Amino acid sequence: MTSRQAAWITLGVLVALLVVLAWLLIPWDAAEPGQQGRQPASADFISAQIDAEQRYHSQLRPWTLGAFALGLLVTVVLGFTPWGARIVELVARPLGGGWVWRALLGGVALGLIGQLVVLPLRARAEVVLRRHGLSTHTWGGWAVDVAKSWLVGALITALALWAFYAVVRALPRWWWIPVSAAAALLTFVASFLYPVLIEPIFNNFKPMPDSALRSDLMEMAAADGVPVREVLVADASRRTTALNAYVSGFGSSRRIVVYDNLLNDAPESEVKLVVAHELGHAKSNDVLVGTSLGAVAAAALCVAGFLLLGWQSLLARAGVSSVADPRSMALIMALLALVGFLATPIANIVSRRIEARADEHSLQLTGDPSTFIAMHRRLAVTNRSDLEPNPVLFALFASHPTTSERIGHARQFAKSLVIVLSADTRGQEGVG
Ligand SMILES: [Zn+2]
Repeated sequence: MTSRQAAWITLGVLVALLVVLAWLLIPWDAAEPGQQGRQPASADFISAQIDAEQRYHSQLRPWTLGAFALGLLVTVVLGFTPWGARIVELVARPLGGGWVWRALLGGVALGLIGQLVVLPLRARAEVVLRRHGLSTHTWGGWAVDVAKSWLVGALITALALWAFYAVVRALPRWWWIPVSAAAALLTFVASFLYPVLIEPIFNNFKPMPDSALRSDLMEMAAADGVPVREVLVADASRRTTALNAYVSGFGSSRRIVVYDNLLNDAPESEVKLVVAHELGHAKSNDVLVGTSLGAVAAAALCVAGFLLLGWQSLLARAGVSSVADPRSMALIMALLALVGFLATPIANIVSRRIEARADEHSLQLTGDPSTFIAMHRRLAVTNRSDLEPNPVLFALFASHPTTSERIGHARQFAKSLVIVLSADTRGQEGVG
């Protein structure tokens, strides 16, 4: 069997595995949530709140969408013309131009160009965030955050590219086997280590101090059957006024994190509801589910990449003759950017269902739909959530259901409580 034949068969197996895993692990029955109970935003928000949110988004959107589109465009232009290859060649030339320097410096240079092109747009977005009181950053703090995330990205990219080209050069026809296996494995390792290695670079995390609330939360987690050692508080208030919480990691690196803003601004009953939602993610192992799907997808992507990069006219378009030459990295980055763009709406369909399941869990666990609704009103107003998003932008970028959908979900839940309650009463009357 030739390498290409084996790659085609492996790709078929991986895609089939992905479909089966997605079918088994994703709560497809958590239908696009709240569709039935959903009401227009004006049912839950006064017109001043809706106006403020719309003003904010109409000011912010040109810069965030512009940065996104420009970033994608630059990556695609560099990859599908010989310009990207030329840049990789030029940055390595002062050091002799060997493949190691091309691999190590090329990705750093291309990444830097991508960052610098969109930086003015990101700065304008930051101005809008400040104008609307959502950012608490100084420009110094903002610049440090931008620099840190670029450095982390550059370091990881350089190492990954060096390892990739070392393998491709050693196994010119069979590199897809170790590369796809490594991609799957590294997806697990990265997801496991992310909360331990990367998150602390950007935020400080402290265990929630002893309090009645903390005892309540730990009790709720114990009653839910989710082992939680700590609820961590992130010092997000250095950067933002937004309210948020999340779960990251899995196994022994799993943690529930709440923003300090949430503890400072929201009543305890609402904090409890937010944590109940996060317990839903922890209980159904959503990070592990996402990581598993991501690992299979990453492996499939590497095999598909091998097949695609065997296409000589595509390489010629990028001005390279062989994948083993690190000058091909601009083309590979462009292909990855396009795949990412196409895959994001699919990942978001999955994410919205997983979020709806966690919402349902929080309602079941607390039995408190009215606090759920109050909490989502607060979140939407404080975070300036898009209350009636454009359907195309929603499909492309929304990882969570809309506020109206989530509130609708709680109303449906409240109705079902009333039905259960009245059924019980009728039962008792019958007995009586
Ligand atoms: Zn969630």
